[in-house]
This record gives sequence, structure tokens and C-alpha cells, in this order.
Amino acid sequence: MILKIVKYPEPVLQQPGEPVTEFNDELRQFIADMFETMYASQGIGLAAQQVGVARRITVIDLSQGKDPGQKLVLVNPEIVSREGRQYEEEGCLSFPDIREKVVRAANVRVRAQNEHGEWFDIDGSELLARALQHEIDHLDGILFIFRMSPLKRSMCLRRIRKLQADGAW
Ligand SMILES: [Zn+2]
Repeated sequence: MILKIVKYPEPVLQQPGEPVTEFNDELRQFIADMFETMYASQGIGLAAQQVGVARRITVIDLSQGKDPGQKLVLVNPEIVSREGRQYEEEGCLSFPDIREKVVRAANVRVRAQNEHGEWFDIDGSELLARALQHEIDHLDGILFIFRMSPLKRSMCLRRIRKLQADGAW
């Protein structure tokens, strides 16, 4: 089932997610719906907050559904180490058509549980490192506009207000 993606400034986007404690069929169905929703919007990552649910669940697939080996389910993820620096453009399904450069760590190691509750570690660099940091930020209620310079953030917010006024947001 394709879920509705909420846009900024929907309050749930800034709400920290509750940890997941039960790994049941309901959770696995929700995760399947998150993948379906993300693919329908040509995204590479989606956090539960973006479909209106403040829980620590995110999905990532850099191949956008072309390579099943790249499907990543991260439940209760935490960044356990980060190193280096990258400064690249990011977008977000909750900010349609907004793309801006954001500073992120170049490499991260993340510890998370899968849809069955099993713990695993994953190392990411470049685009995967960026996606991991962007999505885990969502689970903490942090949006990528808050990682931009104040000048870029106010430019984005002004653009959003104009789109809202035009009924295009
Ligand atoms: Zn996002």
C-alpha cells in the first residue's frame, strides 16, 4: 500500500521517533509499505516520520528498486562512528524540488536492527553515508534544512513560503 508522504512543516517531521520493541507482522507490513511508497516517489530513503509515524524505522535503497541486494531496513539505528567530511547536494521527499548542499561525515558506521529484531552493523561512505545520516536525522526529528547554513536555510524557507502562497506546496 502506498502511504501519504507528509511535507514540511507537518509537526510529526520534527518529532523524535519512539524505539521499536515489537518485531511482528504489523511492523513488517509497515516496512513493505514504506518501500512501496519510496519507490513510487523515486526516493532513495524514507523515514517513518515522513509517512506520519514517529517511530525509529527507516528504509534506504540507493538502486531505487533495481537491485534487491541494496534494500536496507534500519530499525532503532544509531550512528556508532563517523569520520571525514563531505559537502554534497541533498533532497528530501518531504521538501519536493528543494536541493541544497549539506555538510555530512564522509564515512559512518551504523548499528541497527532488521525487521526481525536482529542487530547488524553497516559501514557507509559517499552517497550511502549521506543517506544514512539524513534518514537517522529524521528519526531524531532533525530535518536537512537545519543542517544547512543559516543563509541557505532562509532562502529555502522563503521559497517554500512562496510555493505555499501559490498553492504549489
Ligand atoms: Zn528526508
